Amino acid sequence: MKSVVVVGASLAGLRACETLRMEGYDGRITLVGDEAEIPYDRPPLSKKVLAGEWDAERIRLRGADDFASLSLDLRLGVRATALHTDRNVVALADGTEVAYDGLVIATGASPRRLPGQPDLSGVVTLRTLAESLTLRDLIADGTARVVVIGAGFIGLEVAATARQRGCAVTVLEGLPTPLVRGLGSEMGTAVAAVHARNGVTLRCGVRVAGLQGAGRVSGVLLDDGEVVPADVVIVGIGVATNTDWLIGSGLQLQDGVVCDATLNAGVPGVYAAGDLARWPNGAFAGDDDMLMRVEHWTNAAEQGAAAAANLLAWTRGEAGTPFESVPFFWSDQFDSRIQFIGRAHGDDEVHVFTGSTDGKFAALYGHGGRLRGVLGVGLPRMVMPFRALLAERASWDTALAKAAELTAT
Ligand SMILES: Cc1cc2nc3c(=O)[nH]c(=O)nc-3n(C[C@H](O)[C@H](O)[C@H](O)COP(=O)(O)OP(=O)(O)OC[C@H]3O[C@@H](n4cnc5c(N)ncnc54)[C@H](O)[C@@H]3O)c2cc1C
Repeated sequence: MKSVVVVGASLAGLRACETLRMEGYDGRITLVGDEAEIPYDRPPLSKKVLAGEWDAERIRLRGADDFASLSLDLRLGVRATALHTDRNVVALADGTEVAYDGLVIATGASPRRLPGQPDLSGVVTLRTLAESLTLRDLIADGTARVVVIGAGFIGLEVAATARQRGCAVTVLEGLPTPLVRGLGSEMGTAVAAVHARNGVTLRCGVRVAGLQGAGRVSGVLLDDGEVVPADVVIVGIGVATNTDWLIGSGLQLQDGVVCDATLNAGVPGVYAAGDLARWPNGAFAGDDDMLMRVEHWTNAAEQGAAAAANLLAWTRGEAGTPFESVPFFWSDQFDSRIQFIGRAHGDDEVHVFTGSTDGKFAALYGHGGRLRGVLGVGLPRMVMPFRALLAERASWDTALAKAAELTAT
């Protein structure tokens, strides 16, 4: 293999490049990214960067010198527009083509917009450094009336940061409870209660009909005719995977790039990693939702490395290693660090095994006699010890015994 192309210059793409070099690959690596930035970390965009506490340089995933030591052929600020698997080339928006022997696709995801969303100033989505800096300036003096549409993790982090800067903040959520997708309704409600305690107005079960304003946003229109006044609106209604450039490539696209267990995308030498990879996760073998896509930092980092390692194994004629992982994420809201490991389902039994839901606590999620997830709020040492149990698909009783052991010490 003489030439590897990595498309997507963020966490998964960078980890792929690093792994190729660490494993001794010394051929050409072309890293293509449509942002002009060298890779940076996204979690601080809704936290420390938005709060004005960290500047942009602090969130680089590698310092400039360290990054240069990877000896990459960089194509930053240019989009990949097509993949031709018949000729092994990636077409770029500047009209050039890059040939590859091996390819890692890591183009992630982008925020969804509201249906028919007008272009008004003061309305932002949050995925990039540029968007975070724009929003930081909009909320900096603490006088803006901020409305967040969507009570998911990123929306609630933005709400917390804006509130801490002194802004009046309202969160609008269409579902009856916040954070349902990540935590289920019972724990979602418990975790989001920190917002009410800190003066955020959280309104669930409301439907947004549109945005109002002339040039600049002035309010959010609900479907019952009410207008919620706003100077700044954050649209936080989830993401769509960046797979448009792969249409017509022959790869299977289904809310992401469909891969096998080794993250191979169905064509020899072509792998996918990060927020856009949909793969059968052996850690959930036999479950209905074993074919999954995960939008968390740890998954993107680990998959980038795994995809590169499997690409190298392929060049040696070896079978790839299945990527198996128990999803993990964290979120910071006000003074709470929330951590979740596993997968939450609406039908899970939830058992709070330590603390109280109006402060620090930890809870087990289970179903059918099996442990499926663990949530910790402000109690990091109560979460990670369950990682091995989740990986080995431990029983509910084993999990209860572990919880008892942890709380006894
Ligand atoms: C504000 C924010 C806060 C977050 N906080 C947390 C957190 O607290 N905990 C947690 O676990 N996770 C968090 N995440 C999620 C985490 O950052 C993502 O899971 C991770 O960034 C995914 O990495 P990725 O490399 O797969 O994709 P991305 O980071 O989305 O990177 C994909 C890159 O590819 C580029 N690209 C797209 N299309 C093309 C194309 N056609 N050609 C070239 N380049 C292209 C994109 O512009 C982007 O630079 C957060 C995300 C955001 C946005």
